[in-house]
Amino acid sequence: MNKIGGEEILMPVLVPKENWEVTGRWEAFDVLFKLKGADEKEYALGATHEEVVTPLAKKFLFSYRDLPMMPYQIQTKFRNELRAKSGIMRGREFLMKDLYSIHADQADLDKFYEVAKHAYFRIFDRLGLGGITYLTYASGGSFAKYSHEFQTICDAGEDLIYICDNCRIAINKEIIAEQSQCPICGNKKFREAKAVEVGNIFKLANRFSNPFELQYTDKDGQKKEAVMGCYGIGPSRVMGTIVEICHDERGIIWPEEIAPFKVHLILLGNKKSWAENKKEADRLYEKLEERGIEVLYDEREDAGAGEKFAEADLIGCPIRLVISDKTLAENAVEVKKRNGADSKLVKINDVVKDLIK
Ligand code: ATP
Ligand code: MG
Repeated sequence: MNKIGGEEILMPVLVPKENWEVTGRWEAFDVLFKLKGADEKEYALGATHEEVVTPLAKKFLFSYRDLPMMPYQIQTKFRNELRAKSGIMRGREFLMKDLYSIHADQADLDKFYEVAKHAYFRIFDRLGLGGITYLTYASGGSFAKYSHEFQTICDAGEDLIYICDNCRIAINKEIIAEQSQCPICGNKKFREAKAVEVGNIFKLANRFSNPFELQYTDKDGQKKEAVMGCYGIGPSRVMGTIVEICHDERGIIWPEEIAPFKVHLILLGNKKSWAENKKEADRLYEKLEERGIEVLYDEREDAGAGEKFAEADLIGCPIRLVISDKTLAENAVEVKKRNGADSKLVKINDVVKDLIK
C-alpha cells in the first residue's frame, strides 16, 4: 500500500449515526452494530469506513493540487453477520485493510484502480496464494458495472466462482446469471470452484463524494466533485485461508513470508548435559536474532522431545533446528524444513550462514 502511494492512518471505530444517515446506510446496511452513548447519541461500530474517510478528506481537500489522496488503515471491523462461521474466516469482529482513493476525475480513478489491482496480485503472490487466487468479476452495485473480488480456490470457501481458463479470471456465481460469457474472451466454458473472497476492490465513483459534498476547486476555478475507489483485504480471513491451504495432518505449514517465526529452535538434553547444551543453544539463538532471523525458542526443561516436535509441527514455522546430545557430539545442529521430510546435520558455525542464503 505504501509503494502505490498509500498513507497509513487510523480512523475511529465509533461512527456517529449522522454520518450513516448522510448516505442512507443507517437503515440500508443490515450488519451494523448500533449502540447508544451516554448522551443518548447513537453510533455504529465501523463496518467499513466510507462514512468516516469521506468527511475526513473534506477537511483536507481544497484544490486539485491536493489530489489524489490514498489513505488506508489496518483495523478491527465489526459486522453483525447473520451466519458467522469457520472461525476467523467469517467473524463478527475481524481485521480489514481498507484503502480509499480520492481523485479529481474518473480517468485518474481508472488509472489508479489498475495500479491497486496489480499491487493486490503482488500481495497474494507473496502470501503464497498467487496460483490459486483469481480476479473475479462481481456485481458492482449501483455505481460501476463490476467490482473485482480476489477469490482464492479453497474447499472451505463459501463462494462459488466460474473460472475462464483462457483468461485466468473468474465470474462470481451472483453475476454468472446475467453475465454468462467471459467479459474478456467471450468464452462460455467455465470451471466451477469453491473459493474464499480474500479481497475486494470497487470503483465508488461519486456514491460517497456526492452526499458528503466532497468537492475541490479545479484549475479553471470551477468547483468539482471528487470520485472515489475502495480497496479491501481481510487479513484475518486471509490467515484462515492460508492455514486451510497450507497444512498437513500434523499442523500448519507457514509460507516463509508470513511465518510468525522463520526458525523454531528446540533444545534437548538430559539432566547432566542440559546446562552445557543450553549454553550452545542460547549462543545460536542470539546469533540468529542478531542477523534478523526471528526464532521461537523452546527451552523448556520439563517437556519431552516428542511433545516439542509435535508442537513445532503444529505451529508450523518453516525451519526446525534441534540441539541435542546427539547433534553436539558432531558439533552440529539438526536442520529440518517443515514442508520437507528429510533432516540434515549442519556444523553449528555454519547454520546462520546456511539460513541466510
Ligand atoms: P463477504 O461477501 O464474504 O461477506 P464482503 O464482500 O461483505 O465479504 P467487503 O466489504 O468487500 O466484504 O470487505 C473487504 C474484505 O474484508 C473482504 O474481501 C474479506 O476479505 C474481509 N471480510 C469481510 N467480511 C468479513 C468477515 N465477516 N470476517 C472476516 N473477514 C471479512
Ligand atoms: Mg466483498
